Amino acid sequence: MSTSALVVGAGINGLLVALELARRGCSVRVIDQGEIPNQFSASHGKHRLLHPWKSDPSRGLDAHAALELWDKLLRELECDGFSRTGVIVANTDAESYEQSIRYSPSSVVLSYEDTCRLMPQLAGGQFMNAILYPEFGCLFADRILYSVCDYLSKLGVVLMPRCEVSRIEADSGRVELLDGRRMYADLVFISAGTGTHKIRGALDGLSGTIKATTMRCYVMYLDPNAAGTEFGPFSWASLGGGDLWGMPNVRGIAPKLGCGQLTTPHDPDEPSEDLDAISRRIIREYSKLYPQFSALTGRVRFNHWTLFSTPDSFHIRDKAIIMTACSGIGYKFAPLTAQKVCTAVLDSKQRAHS
Ligand SMILES: Cc1cc2nc3c(=O)[nH]c(=O)nc-3n(C[C@H](O)[C@H](O)[C@H](O)COP(=O)(O)OP(=O)(O)OC[C@H]3O[C@@H](n4cnc5c(N)ncnc54)[C@H](O)[C@@H]3O)c2cc1C
Repeated sequence: MSTSALVVGAGINGLLVALELARRGCSVRVIDQGEIPNQFSASHGKHRLLHPWKSDPSRGLDAHAALELWDKLLRELECDGFSRTGVIVANTDAESYEQSIRYSPSSVVLSYEDTCRLMPQLAGGQFMNAILYPEFGCLFADRILYSVCDYLSKLGVVLMPRCEVSRIEADSGRVELLDGRRMYADLVFISAGTGTHKIRGALDGLSGTIKATTMRCYVMYLDPNAAGTEFGPFSWASLGGGDLWGMPNVRGIAPKLGCGQLTTPHDPDEPSEDLDAISRRIIREYSKLYPQFSALTGRVRFNHWTLFSTPDSFHIRDKAIIMTACSGIGYKFAPLTAQKVCTAVLDSKQRAHS
């Protein structure tokens, strides 16, 4: 009899763990409270950055392993889901320079002048030099989600939309749905993102009580035809200051400005703030370092993701495995997390049997 696995939450994390489980011979069902893929999940959106820059050095190295796995996965899916734009990080001082070259053996150091030539918006900006990670870029997030779903169906994975889980029992593998239905599985993977802390029993008994905080993240989409949006080909992961990241016009998708500093704890059910004020704040943060951004205008959108108070990407408790694509690690590490969690869970199960 094959091991039965139930995956709760069909974001990128849940879908890729389902794929890895199916590859390893498990019988897999995936449930989500909404549609599959769910356009309200944190994983939905036109694109997500894949780059090695992070304040935690081990994460930088993980990005190379993740890149390799994405390459392999997208080939297997026959999905054109990645654009190797190259990702730029601007260094404002010697310390950030040291930090950013550490992460990638193939990184290229760009002089101030070369950087401004390649990305004209940075001209006149307050930075020392920049690092280019040439092999990194952006993942086309929703295109990948749809492609994984198609592939899962072909592999016989059962996708069950509109099934909201209300309670999980880790010791028995029992899962209760809001409509009263019950399901059982040998292994229950909880990858419910912002919904995790609302599922009774999901976070119970985890070492030192892990806290999950819902964060609201803003991005500003620019009119791709407006003056001043000719960014050149590169995405950027950190331009210094308030964690400035974004993408140029890639495959016709509007350029996007992000600002990590504006990502704050926020309940998804609370009303949104004044989005025009947020757009002025994003531009203000960019213009503090780069005056050329001051004339740009655009439309702000927001979305939510979950910050877990743990650096670990998964925790195993009896038959339940809680997975966090977040904790600051995001979409980019999902194939790596799936591989690591399946190895840990299925190997220990095999050891227990032998
Ligand atoms: C605007 C924005 C930009 C980002 N940029 C980047 C980036 O550039 N690079 C990067 O790597 N990461 C980025 N991230 C982070 C990244 O997208 C997320 O960390 C990641 O997609 C989370 O995936 P997930 O599968 O864990 O969660 P989700 O995608 O949120 O999936 C969770 C799923 O669980 C379902 N669910 C919840 N509760 C229940 C329940 N009770 N019963 C059943 N189903 C349930 C939800 O409906 C949802 O579909 C960004 C996030 C945002 C919001």
